[in-house]
Amino acid sequence: MEKCTIVVPCYNEEEVIPLFYDAVNEALCDFPLEIEYLFVNDGSSDNTIKVLRELSEKDSRVHYLSLSRNFGKEAAMYAGLKESDGEYVVLMDADLQDPPELILQMYDAIKNEGYDCVATRRVDRKGEPPIRSLFANIFYLIMRVIAKVNMVPGARDFRMMKRIVVNAIIEVGEYNRFSKGIFGWVGFDTKWLSFENRKRAAGKTKWSFFKLVQYSIEGIVAFSSAPLVWASIIGMVFCFLAFVGLMFLFIRALIFGDPVSGWPSLACMITFFSGLNLFCSGIIGMYISKSYLEVKGRPIYIVKEKK
Ligand code: UDP
Ligand code: MG
Repeated sequence: MEKCTIVVPCYNEEEVIPLFYDAVNEALCDFPLEIEYLFVNDGSSDNTIKVLRELSEKDSRVHYLSLSRNFGKEAAMYAGLKESDGEYVVLMDADLQDPPELILQMYDAIKNEGYDCVATRRVDRKGEPPIRSLFANIFYLIMRVIAKVNMVPGARDFRMMKRIVVNAIIEVGEYNRFSKGIFGWVGFDTKWLSFENRKRAAGKTKWSFFKLVQYSIEGIVAFSSAPLVWASIIGMVFCFLAFVGLMFLFIRALIFGDPVSGWPSLACMITFFSGLNLFCSGIIGMYISKSYLEVKGRPIYIVKEKK
């Protein structure tokens, strides 16, 4: 029988893992594939690892990987995909925000409609702070305009993939990972299922607002070099304006003489342009720092314990 590995990144999820396990088992009781769980304990500081050990004692279909520290969700997902061996792989969060019932529909679309993978998106952001939704929408708008991959608004990491898709994703072995972009980048026929936002079954979100902003910058830097082009264009436009201004001042001085005036505007201009300079160097710096990390070629994750 073909096997489906369910990969679940977990960071401090002791409360939610038992609920998750029960809910998925219940949803998949008539599932035609053999299922196997692969939990990735991403350096949790609570009892997540204990809960996983107990579960795997009880049920031989439960496997886990424990990373040597918290590497972040991206690294945890990569670790899970890399160590999975099912013909099909489902990637889902531990907190039951991803409805397990959808797995049946996903498999149906792959089996009967010929898709290579089935992804999901939230149609709303109910229960989320409005400021977070606003910034998320701005981020997707920017990505649509500047990135060369198809980014679907509200896309989740929750998806089912055939082995061939998983292998392609593993092949993209970059250190600065932005999976939502990588999933689109590898291509393949993808069906999108929509669902309404759900609240976490228990526990707390691991993403602070600041972490999300950082994650968005990661996404932009990883999938677009447009900010570098903007920096150069802004530089050229201002050089041109400065040249025109200089000509104007030169000719005016020839005609009317050169009384010293206007230093406040000069001070403002100096501040503005130094700011702009720093901003553009910052953009370049971001790309250099990402390349630096990439060149070092460090492993994306380190496994401490495995079962
Ligand atoms: N997660 C992880 N490593 C981290 C942060 C999160 O493995 O450093 C996991 C977490 O345990 C959960 C999933 O990623 O299964 C999504 O996290 P969360 O629910 O906190 O994010 P949100 O749904 O609020 O975006
Ligand atoms: Mg969540």
